[in-house]
Amino acid sequence: MPGPETSQRGLARVLVVGAGAMGSQIAMVFALAGHDVILQDITESGLATARNQLEERMDATVAKGRMTAGTARQALNRLTCTTDLGEAASSADFVIEAATEKLAIKQHIFAELDRLAPPHAILATNSSTLGSSKVAKVTRRPGQVCNVHFFNPALVMKCVEVVRHPETTQATVDTVMELVRTIGKQPVLLSREIPGFVANRLMGVLRDEALSLLDAGIASTEDIDTAAKTALGHPMGPFELMDLVGIDVNCMIAEATYAETGNPTDLPHPMIREMYEAGRLGRKSGKGWYDYETPQDDRIHKTGTTL
Ligand code: NAD
Repeated sequence: MPGPETSQRGLARVLVVGAGAMGSQIAMVFALAGHDVILQDITESGLATARNQLEERMDATVAKGRMTAGTARQALNRLTCTTDLGEAASSADFVIEAATEKLAIKQHIFAELDRLAPPHAILATNSSTLGSSKVAKVTRRPGQVCNVHFFNPALVMKCVEVVRHPETTQATVDTVMELVRTIGKQPVLLSREIPGFVANRLMGVLRDEALSLLDAGIASTEDIDTAAKTALGHPMGPFELMDLVGIDVNCMIAEATYAETGNPTDLPHPMIREMYEAGRLGRKSGKGWYDYETPQDDRIHKTGTTL
């Protein structure tokens, strides 16, 4: 784990906007790498939940012997939570927005960030579906805007996709690629925007095939997941992954991709839409392709769902 001395010179102060599933862990990644981090959200309760979850997670990491209690405490001390975007942005060198996946929300945030953050600050979005050109255009610094796309869970997953839009400068790309390396992640550079970026496009092909195998009655969710894990070496199968990411998120991503491409094959699969409408959202609701003892529970106790 990189120490405080490795935090990239010039990008010491990081602001993360949105303290949900992604933003909270992204903030912790930067704090662990030695950055002073402000985590901003619109609700105090969201920030309190994020802080509690991060403290529990750090405690568990320490208990497993993967980190000293001192390192965890120092990192948590570098992380400040606030609802005040103005104060949070005023000293930021690097901002990553991880707010709700709605263009209007993100454009509002980027217009505010452009007004409030110092002129040198780089503004990035963690969006999985919205190319940064859509938020860059509401700023007066489009050259300093790009996608910096972490994967879920951000504390664990190594890959970070850096996506430039036509106006992103080479200096911004170079700075961000180096920043991603210094926080212990593996950057993957996309030279232009494309729906789904790289990893989710690869995953989408696997997911669609898994759904069509299930739909055709060829194999159960459990057996398809087993094949992905034991034959392909994937850490989890496509149905387990859909439950982790959230059926609602899967649905929203498919709809956003369709809005971008106009290709009907990008629309949510009927089985996904049916689950979404039935409130079977995956781990977060306790039921998805699999049943979970409690919402967010890691343990699968019932398997093999076929709709
Ligand atoms: P989430 O719903 O868990 O969290 C979103 C947070 O944004 C909430 O806490 C909400 O209060 C906050 N928010 C809403 N409006 C805001 C505003 N105006 N200012 C500040 N905060 C605001 O969502 P998430 O799953 O963490 O996703 C966040 C972003 O990360 C999305 O753009 C999504 O595409 C991307 N992403 C998600 C995943 C995933 O697996 N969930 C993976 C990679 C990237």
